[in-house]
Amino acid sequence: MKITSVQPFILHVPVTGSQIADSTHTITHWGVVGAQIGTEDGLTGYGFTGTHAHLPSDQLITRCIATCHAPLLLGEDARDVNRLWLKLARNPALQWVGRAGITTLSQAAIDIALWDLKAKAAGVPLWKLLGGQVREKVRAYNTDIGWLSLADDRLVEGARRAVAEGFTGIKIKVGSTVERDLRRLEAVRRAIGSDVTLAIDGNGKWDLPTCLRFCRAAEAFDVYWFEEPLWYDDVQGHAELARATRIPIALGEQLYTHDAFAGFFQRGAVHWVQPDVTRLAGLSEALRVCEAAHAHRLPVAPHAGDMSQVHVHLSYAHPACAVLEYIPWIKDCFTEPAEVVEGHFRLPQQPGAGTTPTAAAWASLRQPVA
Ligand SMILES: [Mg+2]
Repeated sequence: MKITSVQPFILHVPVTGSQIADSTHTITHWGVVGAQIGTEDGLTGYGFTGTHAHLPSDQLITRCIATCHAPLLLGEDARDVNRLWLKLARNPALQWVGRAGITTLSQAAIDIALWDLKAKAAGVPLWKLLGGQVREKVRAYNTDIGWLSLADDRLVEGARRAVAEGFTGIKIKVGSTVERDLRRLEAVRRAIGSDVTLAIDGNGKWDLPTCLRFCRAAEAFDVYWFEEPLWYDDVQGHAELARATRIPIALGEQLYTHDAFAGFFQRGAVHWVQPDVTRLAGLSEALRVCEAAHAHRLPVAPHAGDMSQVHVHLSYAHPACAVLEYIPWIKDCFTEPAEVVEGHFRLPQQPGAGTTPTAAAWASLRQPVA
């Protein structure tokens, strides 16, 4: 299955409402920045990373795909996913300028496109290629009701609505002030009752003393996990917080390599592991993180930079994956959307990785790659 073309692409997809915010970012669109890989036998694979739809930085990623990665792929056998992963990740020229960031995000798009091709060539959905279905259903939790930019009454209304729709888990953003966030957390817990899991996400905003003060009071509200309480790379701080509070710590969406996760595992600094195929250098590296988490007896809750299009396959197939994030922004851009029915993700049926765009999305949402 010889590779004959590697074309980058950018789609910008509007978020729910006109704008959302967490403690550190305000966005209006989600960026689907990817690679379309053609083969001589006529198959096309699609893979993408997720961005905040900032066109100049999206174009750095597409330029890296087109000028640095693509020349190493043309003429290669697309089925050799592991060998090609190493070829790109150990490319001396790129390693020198970046073992994380644009180089990793762009490789993620390519690695996912290769897995998509591999599954399409086999005529099966990706989860079958990853070893088959290990659980009957993948439980979803809803993040799209919990933005920090929502007024208190709309936050509570959205939480109630999600539960009425069948979600058994939700997540709300924190990281404004301790007082405001505790008030919102208490209001949501009251609204949804005790049977729904309620996670919180600080997006790395607070320092350790603020987290300690917040957690002392938040423990009363049965918090499922506290995601990214501290700066993303702060192993020591997360280890100290994990020892000081009964609230489990979740992190990983901003980590680029399995080596970065290893530091948190070794120090007991994380309870819920959150790899993202779109930030790590693709599904291949995310599988290594899942295996390491599993070896440490830690559950995985993938972060959905792909809005779960690919992670739904991983979550059905990997024994470490316990629950999966649901944000519906981009699902209608794909021929098989990641859909939730009665609180659980539907098992994908189409051959591939769930990354093939619809003709309508391709025609209406594309941005210039350079
Ligand atoms: Mg998060």
